[in-house]
Amino acid sequence: MSITGVPAPDAATRHREQERPASIVVVGAGLAGAQTVAALRRHGFDGRVTLVGAEKTLPYDRPPLSKELVTRAEPAWLSDELDVDVLTLADDVRLAESAVGLELLEDGVVVRTRRTASAHDTDDTISADAVVLACGARAVRPTAWPDALVLYTASDAAALRQRLASAHRLVVVGAGWIGAEVAGVVAASGTAVTVVEAAPEPLAGQLGADVGALTRQWYADAGITLLTGVTVGGVDATGVVLADGTRLPADVVLAAVGAVPATAWLRGTLPLTARGAVPVGPTGSLEVGGAVGGPTLSERAATRMWAVGDCADRRTDRFGVVAGAHWTGALTHPEAVACAITGHPAPPESAPYVFSDQLGHHLTVVGTPEPDAEVVHRGSPGGPDGWTTLWVRRPTDGAAADVRELLAVLTVDRPRDVGPARRLLAGSRPPMIDVLRACDPAVPLKASVVGPAPSV
Ligand SMILES: Cc1cc2nc3c(=O)[nH]c(=O)nc-3n(C[C@H](O)[C@H](O)[C@H](O)COP(=O)(O)OP(=O)(O)OC[C@H]3O[C@@H](n4cnc5c(N)ncnc54)[C@H](O)[C@@H]3O)c2cc1C
Repeated sequence: MSITGVPAPDAATRHREQERPASIVVVGAGLAGAQTVAALRRHGFDGRVTLVGAEKTLPYDRPPLSKELVTRAEPAWLSDELDVDVLTLADDVRLAESAVGLELLEDGVVVRTRRTASAHDTDDTISADAVVLACGARAVRPTAWPDALVLYTASDAAALRQRLASAHRLVVVGAGWIGAEVAGVVAASGTAVTVVEAAPEPLAGQLGADVGALTRQWYADAGITLLTGVTVGGVDATGVVLADGTRLPADVVLAAVGAVPATAWLRGTLPLTARGAVPVGPTGSLEVGGAVGGPTLSERAATRMWAVGDCADRRTDRFGVVAGAHWTGALTHPEAVACAITGHPAPPESAPYVFSDQLGHHLTVVGTPEPDAEVVHRGSPGGPDGWTTLWVRRPTDGAAADVRELLAVLTVDRPRDVGPARRLLAGSRPPMIDVLRACDPAVPLKASVVGPAPSV
């Protein structure tokens, strides 16, 4: 419960002290939930903390589930990876227990839970002054594909690994981040892999088709058959049938077609966004403006709730609404929530950041690639030294012909561009760059900035 190095609450927030919760329930024992518990304690919260997690395991890290699918049997525990031990930080840790209902009252919250680990379900209620929703997401498995596996949890990974042990052919449906990662490691272990993607290119939804196309060769290099622009008609125990009738025999089919917020239990209780996420502001407090209908909550009741990580769509002043879907947000945003709850100044906003290890390449995306932005490359796409792609936009004022606003950056095997990109894009407005200098990989990215770099 050390508060070393944490600045004291500012004067403007001190008078709200009597409204501060003295007990908090955190729903979801994943990365965002564990980080929330840790950040609350770091900021001096000494009230009662209850952590409720649907999985029967202590918090672990998800990225290794795909990247180390065939080489790592044990989860990467967050107590080892991040030194966050919820058992010592929280007063009550309830695993294998799901929140199934939420009441936001004027003077507190009530979370209804169901414990499913034993032979009989056990229902319970937890009352507290406030709740932090960190219930994350769940993998999408189309209902017509009961024979397809998904990969989201450690138990999904164990089931997939077990099935792959005796498999000769894997079909992965979806060439997004996780589909690409799994296809790469499974192909490297000697199993024949086919990847089926409805979009015209891999990662088209994340990076746009033109940039996604730059990863196409990686599949061929890895010995993977990649079929794009094709739709799956059905999945059964013997493989995949495409919409045109083509049969792709497989011992294992993995549906890697995305994840959705795990918020079904909140429908009717909270207003949610179109994708089913909890709409929140920069500090994780409920902002009904981003919702599409739902119940009306009193202002006071709404202040008893925060949401963070993959279950939240977070409005930021700098980057618009950022959909929770990535590790770094779940790692860092709990800090803002804990600061808001304990009355400390909000930490600086960082640019959205995604990383992936796929098909022998390390990718990072900083900022939000916009579909209508201009795309330029720094270095040679496909070259042996990697490259960096920049999403830029011509400023509306009369800037010089080569000056652009920098909106987002993709690095491919270019670690030296990652730090500068994160620092540049964390500023209060998009940095202006000389696009000719930025496209020269010999010029440091920072040296392409025109005028002063925007302040953070
Ligand atoms: C295989 C895989 C690989 C990934 N690789 C990367 C990567 O390389 N880079 C990257 O940026 N991101 C990656 N991600 C995404 C990243 O792991 C997530 O963004 C991150 O885990 C989100 O953390 P979270 O705590 O918000 O949600 P989650 O990790 O989903 O955790 C939420 C927890 O809440 C629990 N829960 C849900 N509902 C309830 C309920 N009603 N009651 C109680 N508990 C509940 C869930 O069981 C879960 O344990 C990957 C994800 C997966 C699945």
